[in-house]
Amino acid sequence: MPLDAERTTTTEHSNFVWCHGSTILPYAICPIMSIENIIHNNDKWAICTLHCPENGSTVAQAIMRGNAIAVCNGSYKDHFGTAALVLQNGNSQTSRILRAHVTPGHPDDINPYRSELGCILAIVIVTEAIATFHDIAEGTIEIGCDCQSGLIAVFEHAYDTSKQPHHDIIHEIRRKLADSRLTWKFRHVDGHQDKHISYHLLDMWGQLNVEMDSLAKVYWNETKPLVLPFYPPSSYGWSLWVGERKLASWDRESLYNHAQSTPILEHWSKRRNIPHHLIRSIDWEACEHAIKLLGLTRSLWIPKWLAGFAPVGKVQKRNMFQDHAECPRCSAFETTAHVLLCPAPQAQRQWDSSLSNLDQWFAKALTLPDLQNAVITHLRSWRNQDAGPTEVIEKVKAGRCPN
Ligand SMILES: [Zn+2]
Repeated sequence: MPLDAERTTTTEHSNFVWCHGSTILPYAICPIMSIENIIHNNDKWAICTLHCPENGSTVAQAIMRGNAIAVCNGSYKDHFGTAALVLQNGNSQTSRILRAHVTPGHPDDINPYRSELGCILAIVIVTEAIATFHDIAEGTIEIGCDCQSGLIAVFEHAYDTSKQPHHDIIHEIRRKLADSRLTWKFRHVDGHQDKHISYHLLDMWGQLNVEMDSLAKVYWNETKPLVLPFYPPSSYGWSLWVGERKLASWDRESLYNHAQSTPILEHWSKRRNIPHHLIRSIDWEACEHAIKLLGLTRSLWIPKWLAGFAPVGKVQKRNMFQDHAECPRCSAFETTAHVLLCPAPQAQRQWDSSLSNLDQWFAKALTLPDLQNAVITHLRSWRNQDAGPTEVIEKVKAGRCPN
């Protein structure tokens, strides 16, 4: 493009194009001096250690002749991944392009598979930059990788889905490949072949795989103490972020927790008068596990009860299923709490028997005696309305069982 080109708006008509005017670019045109200038900021992570002699002209010629090859390999340990890649003209190592990078993403998401996918993405980024820099309209490159599932997800699946692991990287690669003017070939290369066969007896693909493995390991040792997790923005479509962290794929649970947990905790903290610091100390994961064991009917009934929507007098009257809200045993105003607090002798007998069953179950389940005692005492105090639940919890937390 000429350096004095201006932006314009045009309308296409049947036999002419209407130019609505043009303007000079608001930013200075910076002449493209190197491969690095072409690579978009989103993709810069892939070239931090790029060794690219003559701006990749040897590889560019190989791409046009159909001889270009690329091999990548990842290294993973302790939730940290690196990868190394090489682009060269067939078996010739003259002016080849070598590079290594840290795998992007959250430590919990990083694994060997992600390191390999990150490396395939880096190959695509570098190759496309070379093709653009050298204005290659047609050409071929073949990728050799020891990660079969990565190759399948990228090259063979009919489509990608946001639920698949590492969708952020897979989608980025597939969209870049869809936009590419080059022909992309791929082959699976067995990894670590030098464990069984002498390096010198391996074919080109096997040797490059081993070489990239060592390079990725060296880079791992160099970068592990220095590089913090980073999240390159997506160039195509939506990306999901929870705070600073970009999600690697669609994760309903973590999004739901992110969107809803704070308002829900605040609601219940206010409604049940549970102080903020105590509501955060509840082991919600254990509750989730326990409620699943109750089966569908009871696991639906319990939240309904706790939220005060069980069919007690108050709710029945409000829903106009009966014209009063009286407790059938003592004729007090019946709320869910009243069902448990009802002073009628029959209710007291039921309470005593239920508490005794719970006590026996605690013993059978080998519950810590202090914990068993604390729960039973707390329930008893609550039934007798001796102390507010908060006061009892504070006593338990302070290591003093209420009595
Ligand atoms: Zn009652």
